Amino acid sequence: MAKRDYYEVLGVPRNASEREIKRAYRKLARKYHPDVNPGNPEAEANFKEITEAYEVLSDPGKRRQYDQFGHQPFASATEGAGPGFGFDFGPFTGFTQRGSGGIADIFSDIFGGGPGATTASLKGEDLHYSIDLDFENAIRGLSTEITLQKHVSCEACQGTGAASGSAPQSCPECGGSGRRQVSRGILSMASPCPRCQGRGKVILQPCRSCGGKGAIYRTERLKVNIPPGVDTGSRIRLAGKGEPGRNGGPPGDLYVTTRVHPHPFFERKGDNLYCAIPITITEAALGARVEVPTVDGTATMTIPPGTSSGRIFRLRQKGVPHLKGSGRGDQYVTVKIVVPQNLDERSQQILREFTRLNPMDPRRDLKG
Ligand SMILES: [Zn+2]
Ligand SMILES: [Zn+2]
Repeated sequence: MAKRDYYEVLGVPRNASEREIKRAYRKLARKYHPDVNPGNPEAEANFKEITEAYEVLSDPGKRRQYDQFGHQPFASATEGAGPGFGFDFGPFTGFTQRGSGGIADIFSDIFGGGPGATTASLKGEDLHYSIDLDFENAIRGLSTEITLQKHVSCEACQGTGAASGSAPQSCPECGGSGRRQVSRGILSMASPCPRCQGRGKVILQPCRSCGGKGAIYRTERLKVNIPPGVDTGSRIRLAGKGEPGRNGGPPGDLYVTTRVHPHPFFERKGDNLYCAIPITITEAALGARVEVPTVDGTATMTIPPGTSSGRIFRLRQKGVPHLKGSGRGDQYVTVKIVVPQNLDERSQQILREFTRLNPMDPRRDLKG
């Protein structure tokens, strides 16, 4: 599903001030917070969407990147970079690391204290990775490995965060409900329990491998199969290879975007390839069979007698394999007649003789 524009999600203009953005988010968060809409997946999805939008637009650096690159920023593959600018709205950072003006402050404002962690299960964030490919590899396809930094579920505790032999306990503070009732004037609202941050469970003996987080941030090597025919901007989806989900939610996906280097001889437009080859005057006049480079090796092409410079020939099915469906594009070959330089006296005589035998005026049509 295509992501909606963050400004549209929050209902603010592109030049909105930080205060306008915050105000818009507070209003929407009040409406869609999972604690206000228990068991409503639509509200939950809305809440996630507005929070993600706010995370980016409330941070001047991320907002600038978003304005420039949109939802799909490139991360340079040569730097081994992974998630581009990842949203910190990750499963394990919660809302607790925010500084002034951040998400935690906003929930303090709305609910009168306590970070806004939620028991709702959320899909993990998608990750983006950009990979550079040679021209030939993009056409033939490639099986390769990429390295990226991401959270992975902790193997020692299987993502629970509890030390082996123990398990997360029902939170003694809220009796496992994850909620605390707060009265504000005539309004009574459920706020997340501060002890368990709304999860309803607490870890008394944290897992030593992950420190109780249930996940570890580490470098992962992943195998990626690049199908034949990718171009700059093609996206390959690796389902479930994004960040782990929160509260039992499914993991996000990893999107690998390809960037294809140009070729010195072939020019690519879509799935067709273009090139130019030089031929001699005699090949053009008398016809010839000439060798032409293709991405499959050398092919032989027939030049018919009387071929003019600039004529384009098509080599069927010598282009790029179609990514969707079968078949390939074509290769178009433009011939360029090369004229001999510094002719000796004998050759000049022969050409003058040739002209006498073949009087022609190629510019006749240009004369009034
Ligand atoms: Zn662990
Ligand atoms: Zn609790």
